[in-house]
Amino acid sequence: MTWQFNPYALPLFLSAIPLVVIMFAAWRHRSNLAARLFLGFTAGALGLVLSYAMELLGANLPAILFALRFEYLSHCGLVFWPLFALAYSGYETAITRRRVLALFVVPAIMTVLVWTNERHGLVYSYTGVQIVDSLVLFDRTYGIALWGWLIYLSALFLAGYVILFRKAIHTPAHFHGQIGWLILAGVLPAVGMVLTVTRTPPFAALDPTPYTVTLACIPLAISLFRFRLFDLIPAAYERVIESMDDAVIVCDAQYRIVQINSAAARLTGHAAQLVGGSVEAALAAITDLTLEPRSLDRSGTRMEIISRAATGARYYDLRVSPLRNRQQVMTGQVFVLREITDRKRAEQQALDLALERERVRVLETFIQNASHDFRTPISIILTSTYLLGKIGESVRERALALSQPAAPAAPERLGESLSEIADGVARMRDKAQAVQASATRLEKMVESMLEVTELERTTQFAFAVCDLNGLVGESVQAYRAIAAQKALALQFEPGSAIPRLRVDERKLRRAVELLVDNAIHYTPQHGAVSVSTDERAGEAVIQIRDTGIGISDADLPHIFEPFYRADHARSDATGGAGLGLSIAKRIVEAHAGRIEVESAPGQGSAFRIYLPLNTELATAQA
Ligand code: ADP
Repeated sequence: MTWQFNPYALPLFLSAIPLVVIMFAAWRHRSNLAARLFLGFTAGALGLVLSYAMELLGANLPAILFALRFEYLSHCGLVFWPLFALAYSGYETAITRRRVLALFVVPAIMTVLVWTNERHGLVYSYTGVQIVDSLVLFDRTYGIALWGWLIYLSALFLAGYVILFRKAIHTPAHFHGQIGWLILAGVLPAVGMVLTVTRTPPFAALDPTPYTVTLACIPLAISLFRFRLFDLIPAAYERVIESMDDAVIVCDAQYRIVQINSAAARLTGHAAQLVGGSVEAALAAITDLTLEPRSLDRSGTRMEIISRAATGARYYDLRVSPLRNRQQVMTGQVFVLREITDRKRAEQQALDLALERERVRVLETFIQNASHDFRTPISIILTSTYLLGKIGESVRERALALSQPAAPAAPERLGESLSEIADGVARMRDKAQAVQASATRLEKMVESMLEVTELERTTQFAFAVCDLNGLVGESVQAYRAIAAQKALALQFEPGSAIPRLRVDERKLRRAVELLVDNAIHYTPQHGAVSVSTDERAGEAVIQIRDTGIGISDADLPHIFEPFYRADHARSDATGGAGLGLSIAKRIVEAHAGRIEVESAPGQGSAFRIYLPLNTELATAQA
């Protein structure tokens, strides 16, 4: 064996340096199967460049053939390429010892054939040397075994590409850089092989494959160091997502699903069909809510969604995080759904409990106020009936005394006694009237209380189309006589063109009458009460304005509470039960309306009922 200096060997020796660095980086991740397999094919590449460099240094055929044997040995590294692609893509289970051994059968046969080629010529039918530019180079004619070997190597290359391509399609854009550079690194040696086999000039005398392997170091290094191959590989990332209890859906920038874990698959029901499908469809399978993924592009979108499963409603906390590349361009989104049904149920129970407590509190206040209000008329009745008995007794005694035949009844004493009896009877009548007034007041209070509780329970209002001006006009009419008694000016100003409304006529009239009644009651003699109707911004307005005593700022926020009466009214024995406004409010709210009040003490008050106009009716009338 003789050797020569060949400048073409230099770049090959130099390429060993980056290859060793790359192998060292892979070695550091050797606990990862993909990294070990990567190490296998980079070792093959290193073997190839070094053995070919040796071949170039060979100055006669024995030296060249010696190096050639090692070149073929390093070809075996290519078996690791599809195996690496499998491990990288998460199909480690497909890599069994048997399959790996089976893949090495052809390389083993080929190695034996290369080493024994002089006897059969199956790999090279002719081997010799040629002199090119005063350099001794290998000259050969391919034998049948070599063609078979090339087909086998191409199949290994192809298998690796197909697996990596599939992964690239089904993995978030985040990994596309990593996979893209890997594929390019794999393509370069394949191009080299084609050039070698076809003996394309200017590479006719040289073998370009080791040089393309050298070039492949660049994309490999980019994938490894820039895109952190092995620090974060799709398979590992998928395992993390898969092991999460939360449902995770990853989509690309076109809102197509690239990944969905089993928790999300269980939720949507059709995971297999959903990969590659729209994320909108997947979300629609979980909730009735229409979620437009484009509207969730803002970072950190978070919302609660309800899924109506057969087993009952389930609540989820949905978080959407956009995935962005280095240029901050959105490359996809991650949807994470965490079930919060238990927490929601606990919250609901706490809310129900709080509502129940509030109801009990309201009931207690209601009973306290009611009993307080009942006490005055009851004590009036009790004292009046007691006094009635007392006066009655003394009247009876006087009458009895007069009826005694033995009594010396001087005419002047007789007159005096009779006037005392008449006086007693008059006091008895006053007491009876007080009893009647208190009983009437009690009756009114009981009726109001029943009305309040009935309104609380009744959900069925009898709604019918009605003319608002007619309804309010009749209510005002009913109070004309009472207003006249107090010398009050009572006016009604109907608004023009008020659309007909759907209301419970009887109940709404009751609400208006309660307000008119209050206005008259709390307005001193010679005052004025004016009622009007109007239409404002899609609402019908009924206004009851008076020039009465008004309501203080301290009382204003409470007047709609049951039994609340401003102090002056409370001391007024003829005042109502303090339920009128709360009844009116409930009626108006049952019509989806509201009551507002404006008042100034000593100047008067204005109560306004706002009722939403029924748009369908309004257009039908137009
Ligand atoms: P009441 O039966 O006492 O009138 P309401 O519920 O109708 O009960 O009214 C509650 C309180 O609001 C009244 O006690 C009174 O103090 C005050 N109020 C209601 N309407 C008027 C009004 N038009 N002018 C002055 N005060 C009013």
